[in-house]
Amino acid sequence: MSEESIYESLLRKGVSRRDFLKFCSTSAMILGLSSSTVPKIAEALEKKERPSVVWLHFSECTGDSESVLRASKPSIAQVILDIVSLEYHETIMAPSGHAAEKSLKDIITKKKGKYIAVYEGAVPTADGGVYCFIGGHKAIDICKEVGSGAMANIAVGNCACFGGIPAANPNPTKCVGIKDILGGTVVNLAGCPMNAENFTAVVVHFVTFGTLPALDKHGRPLFAYGKCIHNNCERRPHFDQGQFVRQWGDMGHRLGWCLYEMGCKGPMAYQNCPTIRWNEGTSWPVQAGHPCIACASPNNWDDAYPFYKRMEGVPGVGWQANADKVGLGIAAATAAAVAAHGIIRAATRGKGPSDKEEGH
Ligand code: SF4
Repeated sequence: MSEESIYESLLRKGVSRRDFLKFCSTSAMILGLSSSTVPKIAEALEKKERPSVVWLHFSECTGDSESVLRASKPSIAQVILDIVSLEYHETIMAPSGHAAEKSLKDIITKKKGKYIAVYEGAVPTADGGVYCFIGGHKAIDICKEVGSGAMANIAVGNCACFGGIPAANPNPTKCVGIKDILGGTVVNLAGCPMNAENFTAVVVHFVTFGTLPALDKHGRPLFAYGKCIHNNCERRPHFDQGQFVRQWGDMGHRLGWCLYEMGCKGPMAYQNCPTIRWNEGTSWPVQAGHPCIACASPNNWDDAYPFYKRMEGVPGVGWQANADKVGLGIAAATAAAVAAHGIIRAATRGKGPSDKEEGH
């Protein structure tokens, strides 16, 4: 841990007490905790030192670091760099070459068992792992060395979690996710890229309670990946109504109708995009008019592909509209039956027995 507390670090960066408490409330909200936990979070962040973080890059595009660093104004995403003590990050650290190699060695030796390891990117395993070298060392060896001394291992982005696009069929370098290398508990903050707010929430949880949040069977925190995107999507009423975008830019697209026919994979995807959103809560891909590509799902580059082809077998497509149609059909059939009944009655009126038989 760094000697400076998280609160002290935030104060030094000009974050007010009010904003600090707002940050604590937002973290509790993202974690799905009640408001009664906010004082506990605030107390922990005030007293505890910032956890040291070693952030590694393997086979990837650095999109997850970009996601963290590209915030346009002070936000939860930006204060990530204040709530952790970022000791090693190849993209943004000042040292390079041998000095960078030395700083990594120093940290994992001096702070063994006391740092959080964050991994961005998949690890190639084909031919002994020769397809990714950093500083003369294979990614697979760095991953094992750093991971074995970490107090927590967090994979960020789909590549680090499940292999991502480097592992897509035919996967010539036999890329895998971090858990396949390390085994044990690895928190998978999946997504392409991961959502920086979810990363912050995991760190806050770890600092406050001393434990990692509950994970699903894919190692993803339940607070962020426990709900199906389709069930939280603002376009869902249009799905239920059978109102679909049929072509890019058509009237339905302009009116914000459902993107299911355009290949949206929201019904198979689990992440909190519809509630947390991106760019400081401004929007998310489906709101912006693009189908979900299930970027937080294992093997999405194979299983969700082609991205613009409609998913088959999704229950409930247009159920409301269909129910209305059935309702109209029943109403029409009832009206026809009533009319036919009237005709029969008129034709048989005055013949005695039928009126009596009907009890009139
Ligand atoms: S199919 Fe996609 S756009 Fe339509 S409701 Fe589901 S998640 Fe939203």
